[in-house]
Amino acid sequence: MAGTVYVLPKERFQELLDRLKADGYQVVGPVLRDGAIVYDDLHSVDQIPRGWVDQQEPGRYQLVHDRSQRWFTFTPGPLSLKRFLFPPSLSLFRVRRNGDGVQLQVTMPEPPRYAFVGVRACDLAAVAVQDRVYIDRQGLFSDGYYAAARRKALFIAVECQSYAATCFCSSMGTGPEVNHTADVVLLELEDRFVAQPRSERGAAVLTPLALEQATDEELQRAKHYVRQAAADMERQVDLTDIRDLLLRNLENPRWDQVATRCIACANCTMVCPTCFCFSFQEVTDLTGNEAERRRVVDSCFNPEFSYAFGVEVRQSVASRYRQWLTHKFATWYDQFGVSGCVGCGRCITWCPAGIDVTEELSAIRASDGSRKEQL
Ligand code: SF4
Ligand code: SF4
Repeated sequence: MAGTVYVLPKERFQELLDRLKADGYQVVGPVLRDGAIVYDDLHSVDQIPRGWVDQQEPGRYQLVHDRSQRWFTFTPGPLSLKRFLFPPSLSLFRVRRNGDGVQLQVTMPEPPRYAFVGVRACDLAAVAVQDRVYIDRQGLFSDGYYAAARRKALFIAVECQSYAATCFCSSMGTGPEVNHTADVVLLELEDRFVAQPRSERGAAVLTPLALEQATDEELQRAKHYVRQAAADMERQVDLTDIRDLLLRNLENPRWDQVATRCIACANCTMVCPTCFCFSFQEVTDLTGNEAERRRVVDSCFNPEFSYAFGVEVRQSVASRYRQWLTHKFATWYDQFGVSGCVGCGRCITWCPAGIDVTEELSAIRASDGSRKEQL
């Protein structure tokens, strides 16, 4: 939505949070917890980790304070919006014995009306990917909880003006500029934000604040930092022919090599903002009179996840890593028309073995020529 661009002075940011709460939103934003920056309930600007910078490398995450007055110098931590829109454990229904019959009670809760504040381009791109997974355009097979949470949610994004060493969103076309989903996009300057409404809902949030219009100089200056971050981002993935490249390399020895390091802990799938594997659990009470069905997050790295007809289909770690990577970068295109990766780099940072998805893809590409000659 093109239109007027506003200035939100930093000393008025709390007014924005208060406005959202007054409008009935549960405000979620970046906060410091347990040595990492995560999305959680955000009541006050004092919770925003101002001046904190994350240092991320394969298998490593550390926060340092850079004493700057900037508020959003950090990049996304381990949690994405997935845990709010698609909770890791969700009660669906309960069944009770009732004489000779059973009584069924739907227990799936109504999702809150979330306002996500300070979210980044890669996480919004991930929401756009998950929309394709969970919301059926014809309305037949949508996930009820996700669709309801998504319909009500408001997204106030901040464009990244810096990046972590593990980020590669620019090569995936998903950041650091926000191209998906946002209702308002904020760009940070020294003492203020430039605020761009991108939807009617976003404009309705900003209008009551009676903000002054931003100048073109302010907008261009803020945009310059974002474009600079995009240009400087070193980590890249070459997407040329990526689907066919992976599918013709299913027997590449690289899968066995990476499996000597991978411990199948499933961390990469837990932190990934687009991974969506889940399974169901039936939990009974001690008397056996009542049972609850829960939907719980699962991972293609768990051997049981591929259990079918009495056997775990993907028994080796190599086959599970191959399944994950080829789904993300190849068959996801067949299923959903887009890549399953948005280049957030979380799977690299939070892998205890420091396995780097960009390095694995490069290695497969590098060995592709010789394999084509052998075939
Ligand atoms: S595969 Fe890795 S880099 Fe890509 S979206 Fe998932 S966690 Fe982020
Ligand atoms: S690639 Fe890393 S994070 Fe993923 S399952 Fe293997 S060891 Fe765990």
